[in-house]
Parts: sequence; structure tokens; C-alpha cells
Amino acid sequence: MKANLILEKPHGWPRSTIVAKAESCSSCGVRLVDRGSTTFACPQCAETVIGRCKQCRDQSVTFSCAKCGFVGP
Ligand SMILES: [Zn+2]
Ligand SMILES: [Zn+2]
Repeated sequence: MKANLILEKPHGWPRSTIVAKAESCSSCGVRLVDRGSTTFACPQCAETVIGRCKQCRDQSVTFSCAKCGFVGP
């Protein structure tokens, strides 16, 4: 009996399908490593990625977009 299990990796596996993430908090600059941190596109221009660490989220520290100047929590 033949084993028909062929585990083949697809060619050109898309390694960068994930939207770019911010590496550091846009408010305090701390590296985003905690699970409580988040990154998202600027709500206004969507051209920059905002990063927020858990601490800044908890304290509702404002961030600002370097591109359009949007300021928000
Ligand atoms: Zn922060
Ligand atoms: Zn913006």
C-alpha cells in the first residue's frame, strides 16, 4: 500500500500578506512586544500605521499621525 501523503509547500508562499505593523508605540515609543499592544492604520489617511502599547491604551494617551496630523485616542 502506498502512502499518498505528500506534504509539499506551495510555491511562492506569501510571507508578507500581513499588513505592515508598527514596531513601536506611536505615543511613547516603546517596542510593541506585549499582547496588549495594537497596531492599526491611521483612521483619517490610512497611510501610516499607528502603534499603541498596552499602557498607552489603558491611559488613553493620544497619538498623532505623522502624515496627516490626525490626533486621537
Ligand atoms: Zn505607549
Ligand atoms: Zn494619518
